[in-house]
Amino acid sequence: MIDDAAADAAASGAVGGVLDPEHPQGTFVLEPGVMAPLVARIATSEGSGTHRSMCPFTGAPLVTFPVSSAEDVAACVVRARVAQRSWARLSVRERAGVLQRLGRIVLDRQSEALDLVQLETGKSRRAAFEEIADIAQVARHYAVRGERYLSSRRALGMVPLLAGVQVHRRPVGVVGAISPWNYPLVLALSEALPALLAGNAVVLKPDPQTTLTALWAAEALDDAGLPAGLFQVVAGGPEVGEALIEHVDHIAFTGSTATGRKVAARAGERLIGATLELGGKNALYVTDDVDVDAAVPGIVRACFSNAGQLCVSIERLVVHEAVAEEFVAKFVRAVRSLRLGPALDYSAEVGSLTSAAQLDKVTAHVDDALARGARVLAGGVHRADVGPYFYAPTVLDDVPAQAVVTREETFGPVVTITRVDCDEDAVAVMNDTEYGLHSAVWSRDVGRARRVATRIETGSVAINDGYTMTWGSVSAPLGGWKASGLGGRHGAASIDGLTRQQTVVTARGARFGATLDSLYGLGGDTPSRVLTTALEAMRKLRMA
Ligand code: NAD
Repeated sequence: MIDDAAADAAASGAVGGVLDPEHPQGTFVLEPGVMAPLVARIATSEGSGTHRSMCPFTGAPLVTFPVSSAEDVAACVVRARVAQRSWARLSVRERAGVLQRLGRIVLDRQSEALDLVQLETGKSRRAAFEEIADIAQVARHYAVRGERYLSSRRALGMVPLLAGVQVHRRPVGVVGAISPWNYPLVLALSEALPALLAGNAVVLKPDPQTTLTALWAAEALDDAGLPAGLFQVVAGGPEVGEALIEHVDHIAFTGSTATGRKVAARAGERLIGATLELGGKNALYVTDDVDVDAAVPGIVRACFSNAGQLCVSIERLVVHEAVAEEFVAKFVRAVRSLRLGPALDYSAEVGSLTSAAQLDKVTAHVDDALARGARVLAGGVHRADVGPYFYAPTVLDDVPAQAVVTREETFGPVVTITRVDCDEDAVAVMNDTEYGLHSAVWSRDVGRARRVATRIETGSVAINDGYTMTWGSVSAPLGGWKASGLGGRHGAASIDGLTRQQTVVTARGARFGATLDSLYGLGGDTPSRVLTTALEAMRKLRMA
């Protein structure tokens, strides 16, 4: 899979052929010395082994780092637990200050983060920038709204006035986060920030391919003033993730549905909370009243941002027959004109797939569809001329229902087209999947699109947008239905998952003898008559 040029680059330790606008004459090199302070942040001990990641743009080695053993993970959680006790005693406002500063750091130092994210994932700069924008949004949102989300509230007591009820939110303790490689900065921090704000500590296990970005996030939190021990990174593969679940108080998992089921099973055995953000087979419906020219650019982006390696990416286009001919022709033309490239600037529209495994999966899905009679309208080829894992943005038509690409998440730059002749059929096709993560409807008639949305079984629905405004609306919950997950991120949803509620009820009348015990002490049917009168009064007054 690695070509000769990449192999030469690998031998020299350089990431060859990557355009770096800050050094236009040079070849981009990740100096091991420069990476050393980041690598030193991994919670590891002697002899736990090493992992070598590569740069998807060329296949050349990127960094070799030590991995964590099960004992390292356990020690890390103990450290986190100690740090968490003092952190939880600070006010929400003090904790929010760290998030405010982090938001500024991510914007100010975006160039370093963008380079790392791109070199680890192979994504385009514009897809990498989505990560910067997201973390700036999430940090600001929780810093500003944190006090409101976490404040204690009063509730109506059993006996009004005599029972004083307060409901508090307490941190769960140590939150374990396990994340995939596709949005490494977002997925390192988007659950960690509300978790920290709520008074928890976080131990993160990123995917081995994107460990440097996770370490950069740890450094940025440090620079934002987060006390030591509260955000630690353990490194390695599935076994490190499994070890983490054994020790933490809540697991925030993002990844495939297959792994999510295993994580949920173990969390269930341990009786700890689990937030599961899993896969999707997202559909977008193009109604018969769309302005095709206006819709096409947004729909292309909905399908091919981050080369389709995005949980909310569109993999199925459901097109009304009345506009199908015009829409498909213009859509395919736009897809064919997308610029692919490995540039560390904004010149490329689509980047690389992140690994050989991704390339193999995408190739297998397309080959299977073709073998079953599907037609390629655009792409369908490995673009080794651009880089070892680049794959051309692909549009497939006439894909049979039994094809793998119809049912399974491809997680790559491949979209299928299905024609329908009414909204009813569109909804049936969109819901014909085990997944329920995200969907979109494109229509001039927003009322109609909203009516369609009420019948789609997904956690989020975008109207006249692919995913950006849905993901970016961080005050609203985002989470999957069906096999796409449990619980959600953003807004109050994250706080719900990352805190425990505690109800404290004070019998206020105790000071002057007005208690339930004194009522029961009256004997006979007096207590029940008094209570019946009180309950009847509460019913009439509609107290709740
Ligand atoms: P994956 O499930 O293979 O791996 C995800 C993480 O889990 C990695 O860090 C991996 O090392 C770890 N892991 C693997 N097996 C484990 C185990 N048994 N116990 C504990 N940890 C384990 O996922 P992937 O294929 O690398 O990532 C892509 C998937 O992530 C896609 O399905 C995508 O849709 C999904 N995703 C979902 C969201 C969302 O918000 N819903 C966001 C991004 C990605």
